Amino acid sequence: MNKRRRKLADLHTHLYGCIHPADFLEFLKDREVDWTRYESNYHRVYGVSPRITNILERCRRGVAGGKDEFDRLFVFGDDHAGNFDRFQAKYDMLNHGSDWAGFSRGKVAFPALVNQVCTFIHKIIARQRRQNIGYIEQRMNLRPEFTRAQSSEFILAMLRSYGEYEVSDIQARLAISLPRDNPWPNWELVREAALGPLGHLLTGIDFCYLEEGYPPKDQRELFNEVKDFNRRYPERALAILYHVGESFNDKSLESAVRWVHEAAELGAHRLGHAIALGVDPEQYGGHTRSESVAERMDQLRYDLRHRKGLAEFGVPVDLTTATDELESISALPINHRITMEYDDAKLDELRQRQELAIRCVRDLGAVIEVCPTSNRRIGGIACPEHHPVKRFIADDAPFVIASDDPGIFGITLADEIAWVKEHHQLPGDAVDHIVDLSWSRRSEVLTGRSSPVPS
Ligand SMILES: [Zn+2]
Repeated sequence: MNKRRRKLADLHTHLYGCIHPADFLEFLKDREVDWTRYESNYHRVYGVSPRITNILERCRRGVAGGKDEFDRLFVFGDDHAGNFDRFQAKYDMLNHGSDWAGFSRGKVAFPALVNQVCTFIHKIIARQRRQNIGYIEQRMNLRPEFTRAQSSEFILAMLRSYGEYEVSDIQARLAISLPRDNPWPNWELVREAALGPLGHLLTGIDFCYLEEGYPPKDQRELFNEVKDFNRRYPERALAILYHVGESFNDKSLESAVRWVHEAAELGAHRLGHAIALGVDPEQYGGHTRSESVAERMDQLRYDLRHRKGLAEFGVPVDLTTATDELESISALPINHRITMEYDDAKLDELRQRQELAIRCVRDLGAVIEVCPTSNRRIGGIACPEHHPVKRFIADDAPFVIASDDPGIFGITLADEIAWVKEHHQLPGDAVDHIVDLSWSRRSEVLTGRSSPVPS
């Protein structure tokens, strides 16, 4: 095995989530920032003031402990964990402290903003090199305020930054995150950039942020367009990276499993988190939840479509009962909520549904991106026994280990792999195996652009 392969590959990161607290503190040192919105949202979520102005002042004066206070405020740690709202309240420091807010208000010029983003890219890559990372895929979205020309220039500027590392011991690739409500205009820009001179560094599109309310089936047409693009331009083929099954309070647990399965059926190459597919149903305990009529109808259609597979896994779907229910609820308003109870038997059934979906995801060739700390802190899965990666290991699901937002989580990819090894009793060579899996599941490999072993 050559030296380069021993390095780590991180396939699921978000550019701003990679910014290290020390780099952000350095950036803030001489800046005047209006923290009003950050402070009020932080107070709403955590019930205390972040005291950021005071902490920054102490850091500026070099007061002992100031830097540690900043780190604690910046990092979304285990003691802050719980849900996405709490994560967002922390992440807002990056939004409001960097030039995004100024750009939105017309106070920061576009070139200065681009320059700032590229500076962060270089700082992030410098740290990742020191952490023995040899390959990284970063996701970044385009701002709605950007003009078409600005969006194109923004993508190009990021690719130029990544291009500076082509002859080095780290390779960086970009995936543009598209808005779930209307990905089409930005897809056009990605398409153009992928065919441009630096298109070899742009290897995927991503769907992230809020997933509830955006069923994977809504992206069918776009996914088909990407598949068509990939057939026409195989040397610039783009992977579809899709966050799914991470947040599902709005629907039944079986619908949450189905969404992950459907994203793979539609052609997603890698599935971000897919907690719903692997979390131990015991984690939920007996409870009540509800979903819309539209979602329940989709679930019944799924059950009918996968009746044979579900039966194999011990989940009988009675044709007449399912068809009758489908017919009777179709008369209800589409947004009407249907309530369902979860007891031990229904949670056991969910476990079987997960197993079928895992098998199908594997057969479809999709890969699950497990981000252990992110799942614990945003996904609220505190107990390692319930963590989805346990099932993924046991059921031989295709997965990789990634870091998601290593800066704001205060972690490294090596920490993430070590956590999996420690909590899931993996054998001695497991770390090498996990590292190899990531190298062989890079976007450019899954789309056929590159061979699994880098040259
Ligand atoms: Zn993510």
